[in-house]
This record gives sequence, structure tokens and C-alpha cells, in this order.
Amino acid sequence: MDFRDSPEERDFRSQFRGWLTEHAPGEPIPVEPEARAAFLLAWHRRLYAAGYVGLSFPVESGGRGLPPTYEAIFNDELGAAGAPPGPAFGHIANAIRLHGSEEQRRRHLPGLLSSQVRWCQGFSEPGAGSDLANLSTRAQAVEMNGAVTGYRITGQKIWTSEAVGADWCLLLARSEPGSCRHHGISVLLVPMRTPGIDCRAIVTASGTREFAEVFFDGAEVDAANLLGRPGQGWAIAMSLLGYERGPADIGWVSRFARTLRLLEDQARAGSLRTEPALRAALAKAYVDLRALQVQVQRTLSSRMDGSTPGPEGSIDKLLMTRTDQSLHRAMMDLRGAEPLLEDGLDLDLYFWSRAQSIFGGTSQIQRDIVAQRVLKLPRAGK
Ligand SMILES: Cc1cc2nc3c(=O)[nH]c(=O)nc-3n(C[C@H](O)[C@H](O)[C@H](O)COP(=O)(O)OP(=O)(O)OC[C@H]3O[C@@H](n4cnc5c(N)ncnc54)[C@H](O)[C@@H]3O)c2cc1C
Repeated sequence: MDFRDSPEERDFRSQFRGWLTEHAPGEPIPVEPEARAAFLLAWHRRLYAAGYVGLSFPVESGGRGLPPTYEAIFNDELGAAGAPPGPAFGHIANAIRLHGSEEQRRRHLPGLLSSQVRWCQGFSEPGAGSDLANLSTRAQAVEMNGAVTGYRITGQKIWTSEAVGADWCLLLARSEPGSCRHHGISVLLVPMRTPGIDCRAIVTASGTREFAEVFFDGAEVDAANLLGRPGQGWAIAMSLLGYERGPADIGWVSRFARTLRLLEDQARAGSLRTEPALRAALAKAYVDLRALQVQVQRTLSSRMDGSTPGPEGSIDKLLMTRTDQSLHRAMMDLRGAEPLLEDGLDLDLYFWSRAQSIFGGTSQIQRDIVAQRVLKLPRAGK
């Protein structure tokens, strides 16, 4: 694929760059959790109002019906400008776009894209993280005259990001009594204010409150809230995880490149520690970043050719994690105690880089996927 912009893409890029110069917040993202959430929500609504969210979504869903390269340019420019990132709900929006009924798409996508309605993803459970197929939250069919009219949900989710304050949850639950592993699981669209749902924030070691435990005690939703067919949940979940990667990754490449350039400049100007081991760490981060960039471009190029995301996305996730962690570890070492004593922003970036190897499937699980599903190697022990 030719990565140079077409004339139309160039126009879009320069228009968005100009818009960012005028409208990107000058102040850093607040570290304090509530202020941070409010700041990002306001930013996402401003981006949407200006026509920059849902670029590749159909017009009737509130998008602009453009090819995915426009999403990549959007993220690239955000990252290069050091502006706050765009909304990260692409996987939920794609699940509804691809598997939702006409009515569900019409009802949910506009609110999701405009950030007027907030969503969370209820997959992980205390006994089902890496081994998601072990999930035990039940969605018991409620029947009337032999027809399913609703689902009664009982169980617990954990590590649900942004659940406190969310309006809806994309929930994975076992709808077929007695089923096990990947079978008998369904996806439900659940209003978070349904009676029987108790959402409790988890305060992490770094003081954030972005996660929650969500308890379901007989919470009942209408049958119309089923996404796709009964029992199709596992297939939907797997397709959705693929959409966690994509054009947004280009934005992270630009963001990391910006941080790396900043560190390089500061090192050259003599304002950072520059012992040989630290110089080597910075060089390693540079090499990691170049490898990530090539992989992300390759993925985007195959997306442009029309292929749907598959297990190869695990390679992107692994390289993303490696680069994020090597870069931000080097940053902490090069800057010494300063990040700990000053604004806390660098520390926040460092903590986030550590989380990269856990969310969306841990690095061990990603390597398993590459071994089994990309390289087709036999399972361990066989
Ligand atoms: C920032 C962040 C945001 C998140 N947001 C959400 C969210 O919005 N919704 C949601 O549902 N979940 C969310 N999660 C949860 C996340 O998906 C899980 O933490 C993750 O899947 C790992 O599950 P676990 O924590 O139960 O760890 P476990 O599965 O218990 O794993 C513990 C360790 O054992 C290793 N391990 C497990 N099985 C194997 C194996 N077969 N082979 C080799 N090693 C193995 C793991 O790699 C890991 O190192 C989030 C997590 C983080 C950190």
C-alpha cells in the first residue's frame, strides 16, 4: 500500500490539523479521576460536534461513511499534536454495527458516536479473565406463552472500565443452562440503571477509579436487548476483540514518536541523565517503535484491502505493549526522580504502559494466539 496521502486525504489532514491548532486543549489531561473523565468526555463531544468521530461509520449511524484511512489520519494527527486521544469505543460500536438489528443500530450508534451515551464492556469475571470461556454470569430466559420475552441476569463482572457513570453495558453471559466453555454464551445490551445492578468502583494501587465490579442480582432486560442470535456470544466477542486494534494504533505510534523526540532533544540538550545503559534503553525504544510502525501500517493496509481483523491483531498488541513499556520505562529512568516529584503525568503514562500487557488479553495469551492461530502450532503438551 502507498502510505502517501491522496489529494482528498491531504485536504482532510490539513483541515483537521488546522482545527486542532485552534481547538485542542492547551492544558494537560487532569490526573484526578473525576476531572479526567469529565475532561475527556467534553473533548470527545467537541470532536464529534466538529465531525471528526465515527469517520468510517455509515452516515445513517451518525458517521461520515469514509474509508478507514481517514480514521488513521485523524489518530495520527491527534498523536503528533500531543492532543488528548479520541474515544476508544470502536470495538463496541463495531459490535453493534456488525451484529445489531436495524433497530439496535438506529437506537444505539448515534448516542455512542456522539459520546452522549456512555458504554462499558462486561466480559471479565473473577474466575474468567484470560480464560474468558469459563464465565459463569447467567442470563436466564424469561418466557411467556412459550416465547422468550426477556433475560434475567445473575452473576458478577470485574475490571469493567468506565462502568461507574456508564449508561449501557455490552454484557457477555451464559444464556443456555448447562452449557460450558464457548457454547451457550450470548451478548446482551444492558441499561446500567436496571434494578438489580450494583456497580462498585475499584480503587487501584495508583489511586485511579476507572474500574468497577458490577454485580447482577436478577436484573431483567427485554429480549430485544439480545445482540445477534442466542448462543452467538463467543463469535461476537472474538470479532469485537479484533476491532480493539486498528487505525487508532497509528495514533499511538505518533504519540510515542513525539515522546521519543522530546526525550532525544532533552538528552542532546544535556538535561537528562545519559549513562550508556540509558542511551541503549532509548535506542531500544526507537527500534521497538519502528517495528511497531511497520506492523501497524501492514495491518491498516490489509484492512484497506477489505480483510476483517483476525488473530494477527495479537502481533500488533504485543509490539504495542513492548514499545509502550520500553519507551516509558526509559523515560522514567532518564528523568530520574523528577516524574515522581512533579506533576504525576509521566508516572501516569508509565502505569498505563504496565497495564498494556494485561487489558484486551495478556501478553502470554497473545503469544498463545500467535502460536496456535497464526503459526498453527500444536497446543503445548500435545
Ligand atoms: C486497564 C485495563 C482495562 C480493562 N478493562 C476491561 C473492561 O472494560 N472489561 C472487561 O471485561 N475486562 C477488562 N479488563 C480485564 C482484563 O481483560 C483482564 O484483566 C485480563 O483478561 C486478564 O485476566 P485476569 O486479570 O483475570 O488475569 P488471569 O487470567 O488470572 O491471569 C493471571 C496471569 O496468568 C497468566 N495466564 C493465564 N492463563 C494463561 C495461559 N493459559 N498461559 C499462560 N499464561 C496464562 C496471565 O497472562 C497473567 O499473567 C481490563 C484490564 C485492565 C488492566
